[in-house]
Amino acid sequence: MEKNFFSSPQAEVSRLDSAPSTDGQLPLFEHRELLSGDYWRRIPGFSKVGSAEFQTHSFQQRATVTSVAQLRATLGGLASEAFFDDLADGIRNAPMALRISPHLLSLIDWEDPAEDPIRTQFLPLRSCQQPDHPMLQLDSLAERKDSPVPGLTHRYPDKALFLPVDTCPVYCRFCTRSYAVGAGTELVSEKLKLHANQARWEAAFTYIESHPGLEDIVISGGDSYNLRAEHLEAIGRRLLGIPHVRRIRFATKGLCVMPQKILSDVHWTDALTRVVELARRLHKSAVVHTHFNSPNEIVEATQRAMNLLVERGITVRCQTVLQRGVNSDAEVMQLLIKRLGYINIQPYYVYFHDLVPGVEDLRTSLADGLHVEKRVRGTTAGFHTPAFVVDTMGGGGKRDAHSFEYYDKENGIAVFTSPSVKPGERFLYFDPLESLGEAAQERWQIPSERRAMVGEAFEWRGEQFRGLEWRE
Ligand code: SF4
Repeated sequence: MEKNFFSSPQAEVSRLDSAPSTDGQLPLFEHRELLSGDYWRRIPGFSKVGSAEFQTHSFQQRATVTSVAQLRATLGGLASEAFFDDLADGIRNAPMALRISPHLLSLIDWEDPAEDPIRTQFLPLRSCQQPDHPMLQLDSLAERKDSPVPGLTHRYPDKALFLPVDTCPVYCRFCTRSYAVGAGTELVSEKLKLHANQARWEAAFTYIESHPGLEDIVISGGDSYNLRAEHLEAIGRRLLGIPHVRRIRFATKGLCVMPQKILSDVHWTDALTRVVELARRLHKSAVVHTHFNSPNEIVEATQRAMNLLVERGITVRCQTVLQRGVNSDAEVMQLLIKRLGYINIQPYYVYFHDLVPGVEDLRTSLADGLHVEKRVRGTTAGFHTPAFVVDTMGGGGKRDAHSFEYYDKENGIAVFTSPSVKPGERFLYFDPLESLGEAAQERWQIPSERRAMVGEAFEWRGEQFRGLEWRE
């Protein structure tokens, strides 16, 4: 049987699908229909909470749900006992602890939680989880390998990732940085500690100062939302004061999780604004990078928060993760991209899902993701069209998903190169086993066959296999 693979720039270049498609047309104005009103009152635990209280960060933080018992008490009879048992089992098999804001909890369709895209991301159900891919590694992007100082990853020539804090206002069950973020779980009990600590931060600043090639610093975590206002401002001022640092970005999922904070936590938003204004005066840039995955996460409260940031001239960009059952349908992704643009968030990246423990049910194949990309491109202006990227395993960095050197679709193995980051090395991405045929799935269960399949992927260029640990 002929092998089903694509390779470029070699001669055998194939297309993922060749027939012109007419599906995937989004109703023209659907992206403008934003949920408003007292949407939280359908949750028994919030039914008596008025708008003036619910729409504040203090209520959102106070009523954030962090245990199954608390969720049961909040939801009352909205979900069955079987659901809570399934959730408790799912959390035992998850790398992230439970943490979800009242805002997000209220956006879940509790008539059908199993299918809901917000439930899918934050409340793991054991019945939905699938066995991990055999090539999975914790910290699959090898961030720690490129970390000269705890909490600072320096991989790209002019950019570094600074992690001042290891907590977030929500815990996403699919977090790539589950090796460090949030409390330990039964699955990942020992996590790297990156608590807010000014001595550790200073070590990172000193490293940045001594590397004049660094022009771009991402302040992430964890989540910048969880930095105190004075810390956020001090970090921003310190970094902007380094002559060769030209751009800083505060990464936060907060706009999705708790948009209320932008309007009600005046100290935090004013601190952010002062940093952005300082950057402008220095002819540098300070922006916000955020993270929405479902169009259902964007409601009128999100638009109100964005309106304030727009008034203050703060640029916000979005980095989305492609997830099966959340946004892997082309129309849903189109709606998300259009809705982000409508409230003035620039869609920047769509990431193919990293290999993370306990979330194989969320990943898509490279082929399926490229199918979505094809339908997204053209729905809106080019500068609002995100790049679909694979953050390659082992530290090759982000690669345009189309730029694979080789793609063995039958066994679900893609090979990328990253000449500007790690010249001469090759990096792999693996499709989820469920997307493969029965024979390939069986091969992946046999260690010697795994080695042979990956070996085949490298063989096309006579390369030696390297960079991954085998789990046999
Ligand atoms: S907000 Fe970001 S860092 Fe925090 S858990 Fe979610 S994905 Fe991880």
